[in-house]
Amino acid sequence: MKDVNCIFCKIANGEIPSATLYEDEDFRVILDLGPASKGHALILPKEHFANVFEMPEELAAKAFVLAKRMAAKMKDALDCDGMNILQNNGTAAGQTVFHFHMHLIPRYDNDQVGLTWIPGSLSEEMKEEILSKLAG
Ligand code: 5GP
Ligand code: ZN
Repeated sequence: MKDVNCIFCKIANGEIPSATLYEDEDFRVILDLGPASKGHALILPKEHFANVFEMPEELAAKAFVLAKRMAAKMKDALDCDGMNILQNNGTAAGQTVFHFHMHLIPRYDNDQVGLTWIPGSLSEEMKEEILSKLAG
């Protein structure tokens, strides 16, 4: 399904032109218009899913296989020193376009891309609470 009000649906399906690095029946890979670094790309499914929670497992698996292939190709072509593969779900997580996408962010030694956080500490209490909710 497509969402008529979704810009990434239009881009993924070619209704709005984009700098396309790769396309197949399920995905289009484009350059991000506001790149964090040289070569920052986005993997867009052609079908509309707002986020990972809505996406079928099979397509999510395909997306990661494609991310792995694109990352390898980009590393060779751009000669970057590293690569962040990341994906935001929900406003709280920094998502701004509500059509699932994966970021491929080439990293260069000493670049200024700021994908860091302040490490907290895992208390016994928190660990037990989370394990009781999730483990097993
Ligand atoms: P999010 O914050 O939702 O994970 O990422 C959205 C990304 O989409 C941002 O990196 C932003 O620069 C990019 N973006 C937003 N609108 C467009 C657009 O129209 N075309 C392209 N190529 N990228 C876009
Ligand atoms: Zn969409």
